[in-house]
Amino acid sequence: MSDGFETRAVHVGQDPDPVTGAVVTPITLATTFAQAGVNDHTGFEYARTANPTRQALERCVASLEGAAHGSAFASGMAAEDTVLRALTGPGDHVMLPLDAYGGTFRLVARVMGETAGVTWSAADLSDTAQLAERWRDETRVVWVETPTNPLLTCVDISAVASFAHDRGARVVVDNTFATPYLQQPLAAGADVVVHSTTKYLGGHSDVLGGFVALNDPELADRFAFLQNAVGAVASPFDCYLVLRGVKTLAVRMERHCDNARVVAAMLGQHPAVERVLYPGLPGHPGHAVAVRQMRDFGGMVSFLAAGGEDAALALVTKTRLFTLAESLGAVESLIEHPARMTHASVADSPLAVDPALVRLSVGLETADDLVADLQAALDALA
Ligand code: PLP
Repeated sequence: MSDGFETRAVHVGQDPDPVTGAVVTPITLATTFAQAGVNDHTGFEYARTANPTRQALERCVASLEGAAHGSAFASGMAAEDTVLRALTGPGDHVMLPLDAYGGTFRLVARVMGETAGVTWSAADLSDTAQLAERWRDETRVVWVETPTNPLLTCVDISAVASFAHDRGARVVVDNTFATPYLQQPLAAGADVVVHSTTKYLGGHSDVLGGFVALNDPELADRFAFLQNAVGAVASPFDCYLVLRGVKTLAVRMERHCDNARVVAAMLGQHPAVERVLYPGLPGHPGHAVAVRQMRDFGGMVSFLAAGGEDAALALVTKTRLFTLAESLGAVESLIEHPARMTHASVADSPLAVDPALVRLSVGLETADDLVADLQAALDALA
């Protein structure tokens, strides 16, 4: 029997250092490694190709995703870029979800679209009829976020995977919001998992990183080739920080989920809130899928302000503990206005975000304090 999630988070790839016995994986800064003879080396020759600290992180996160292979990148976008380069070419078509991280949309539409000849459409991935209607012969990739950023829509990964596989396309799941602790996309049939490790895996708003995990050995070779050829690798220090974050991922996620549940319940009762978007609520359209597919509902909560855009914009400046800032997934609670901040790049596209939307990343502070903070800010709108 393999070790449990928490055990793997602490130990995989992280044996005590064989030379010193150090129990924490050393940060290896060397860019080059001595060779006994030409090409006779320890597995490390040049740091862009492989680095011991990065390898520890790659082994650990791959294990947490139930993947045979993992590659760590300098940011989530660098990881996404590598995946899209590997899976698409000129004339290929990518199916995006109707809401997704704005940077993913920008990468597909503006970078892959304008420089690599890739086309795209967006569809509600939980609606098979719509997916079929928008499908093209050239569709090679379905890009899934679940729960999505920022609407927290939940998509049935196994249903999308069987639909796409029947038509010869691959399924990529951005598992940033759920993390491998709450959701295992590869086991559900996805081909590739990507992460912004900047978020929950790092967990402390102090490191930028990305990750790709998968089982297909040929595709893994292609990703490793691109990782080295393009060079957007994670630095040793950044790998150390993500590895340190990953050790506490399970306990942090439990508390993120507990706090988000309490915050969502309060928001649902407040007259200044029109609608709460949180997969843990039985009325949420993705609730049944989330129950089936996730261990718990995550730490992200979005809601529509009853007073529209003006109320949303006023609210995000009125909280004391929820800091007005982009990003998510760390110990401190954050509040933001997606239409003008994280998702400004999808304005005027099918992925455009309602300007009344407010997104919360619920942190690890005392739940009662978070509720009181939001309540006071909402009361002040009245
Ligand atoms: N995927 C999701 C769901 C995100 O929220 C983000 C960033 O916010 C990214 C990918 C991009 O990651 P990074 O900022 O590390 O490049």
